[in-house]
Amino acid sequence: MAPQVELPRVPEASDESDVLREQLEYLIEHAARGVACGCTECQRYLRVRSVLLEIFAEPPRPPRANVTQIPAPLARAA
Ligand SMILES: [Zn+2]
Repeated sequence: MAPQVELPRVPEASDESDVLREQLEYLIEHAARGVACGCTECQRYLRVRSVLLEIFAEPPRPPRANVTQIPAPLARAA
């Protein structure tokens, strides 16, 4: 009779990551149907999406480094 080692089920970080991935996949799949049904899942997807993409939404602004503004050379004749 082998002693059975029973590991307590402790939620670990990897578990949470898995949950996050699953949720994300689920929401993406829901949104991928192209039906903006406006349900709770749609709204969750939009929230998650905006958070995950927020670093892309605004390009990092470089410090003003010698940006010479080129004056418009051509006078626009109407
Ligand atoms: Zn929906």
